[in-house]
Amino acid sequence: MGRRAAVAAAALALGSAAAGAGIDASNVRLVHNSERFAVARALGGAARMLGDPECQALLDEFADASGRPLRATLQGSGLRAPEYLDGIFFYDAPPRLCEASTLAVTMPGSRAVLVCGSRFVRQMERNVLHAEAILVHEALHSLGLGENPPSSDYITERIRARCE
Ligand SMILES: [Zn+2]
Repeated sequence: MGRRAAVAAAALALGSAAAGAGIDASNVRLVHNSERFAVARALGGAARMLGDPECQALLDEFADASGRPLRATLQGSGLRAPEYLDGIFFYDAPPRLCEASTLAVTMPGSRAVLVCGSRFVRQMERNVLHAEAILVHEALHSLGLGENPPSSDYITERIRARCE
């Protein structure tokens, strides 16, 4: 994880927005404290991931349904990738959405992500990097990426290959 530590240090040195996505992230609106803190903490990690140019290359790799690269949509927002996360709102998912193995869900182009909070807490305990990658995954959907194709697993696999 030396590279991630170096990236985190660089983000701090630049006073990056990554530092803003700490545990008081006001865009994380889950009701239960432990679940809200878990998502906020993972969001800090996701922001560090998205601060790395190699991770940002995902924005050129993936496009929306019209073929527009996600990077073009991000540029249209006027935000840098880590800052974009601060404008996504995280809410509790309704229980019926959490019956399968879902951790989080959103619609392409939406700024609202629904999180299965108790499962997300367990995921943070088991594998922090995977939990962070899931939030990057949802951010890519927010920027317009659809699914099937590409499959959910493929998206997460590409994130883990580029961003860890
Ligand atoms: Zn997905």
